[in-house]
Amino acid sequence: MLKLFNTLSREKEEFQPLGEVVGIYTCGPSVYQYAHIGNFRTFIFEDVLVRYLKFKGFRVKRVMNLTDIEDKAISTAGKKGKTLHELTDYYSKIFFEDMEKLNLLPADVFPRATEHVPEIIEIIRKIMENGYAYRGKDGSIYYEVSKYKDWGNLFHRKLKSGKRKIKRDEWGEDSGILSDFALWKSYEKEDGDVFWETELGKGRPGWHIECSAMCTKYLGTRFDIHVGGVDNIYPHHETVIAQNFAAFGENPSQYWLHAKHLMVDSRKMSKSTGNFYTLRELLDKGYEPMAIKYLMLSKNYRRRLNFTFDGIDEAGKKLEKMRSIIERLKSAKGVENGENIATKALEKFEKVMDDNLDTGKALMVLEELSDAVSVMEPDKGSSGKIIETFRTFDSILGLRLFGT
Ligand SMILES: [Zn+2]
Repeated sequence: MLKLFNTLSREKEEFQPLGEVVGIYTCGPSVYQYAHIGNFRTFIFEDVLVRYLKFKGFRVKRVMNLTDIEDKAISTAGKKGKTLHELTDYYSKIFFEDMEKLNLLPADVFPRATEHVPEIIEIIRKIMENGYAYRGKDGSIYYEVSKYKDWGNLFHRKLKSGKRKIKRDEWGEDSGILSDFALWKSYEKEDGDVFWETELGKGRPGWHIECSAMCTKYLGTRFDIHVGGVDNIYPHHETVIAQNFAAFGENPSQYWLHAKHLMVDSRKMSKSTGNFYTLRELLDKGYEPMAIKYLMLSKNYRRRLNFTFDGIDEAGKKLEKMRSIIERLKSAKGVENGENIATKALEKFEKVMDDNLDTGKALMVLEELSDAVSVMEPDKGSSGKIIETFRTFDSILGLRLFGT
């Protein structure tokens, strides 16, 4: 039985889907720059989640949004002398290429915020009608946080009170203060040609409302799993819950899953300390995408992962070993019966994956199977069974053990 750690309850809960199809929403990339490897930790984890649910026999509908409008995207486009669309179109393509390189399955839907402005207007209208939002003096529409009694339930931290209004997408130092936040941002000259003339006035949507509108459109007002990185918990996912509650009277998702930070050389990744990497940079250095992915999966997603170049090298060697063992098995002519080893490995794999997707332990099961097989001469039937087991593991972890 699959158990998932729900940030909302702070407990591992048995996974019980609401209906026949498991609805999953992931906060996807902001497509105004290259995604960094920390972003990909979340996307890799989510890919494994989807693949594992399918392995367990669930049908899945997966939605990953592309944030193609937000403060930084607009300012970056301005600095580069490009239109917002040119910029986000370029980086969306790059993101899809990166996904393919990492062997991540595409989502069923990749909605873009700029293509959902009518849905965004509609949900803001509902929030206003229900009395949870007001128009500020600057013409923007703000969510009135004090009206929502469960504010902070996902974050599990006490916030300082203090009436403020935040129009920015990123809250930065204001994150610890109880603040109203913008759902619709009135036009400012810095927005250039990025605006919509709507019944809410001339302006553009805030980042947070985009996800409420898109998850509801594609998965309904209540679905199964919402995924993101820990950075998304507050304020972003807290706002999504508050917005959906104000519009539809309920938290949109049963389970809220968050991947922990990726550390690089034991430090938080940041541009200023020089340990900030995009996937592209690592590939340009000659690292194999699957080795990078192997390292990313070497710890449960809820634990911090330390990313080092030695770690990628080591992961690459383990992969090579597995691939050569699989090759050897294809032409096995031994006499030993190894079926039992394969069956036990599969059972163990499922057990650790059922425990909140412990991919770190799952990889150890693969390594143990490789070690056991490397010192035996299995017969033809057993070899087939062991190969099949590796194939099952690979269908879930997506490590291209059988080549491209
Ligand atoms: Zn989001």
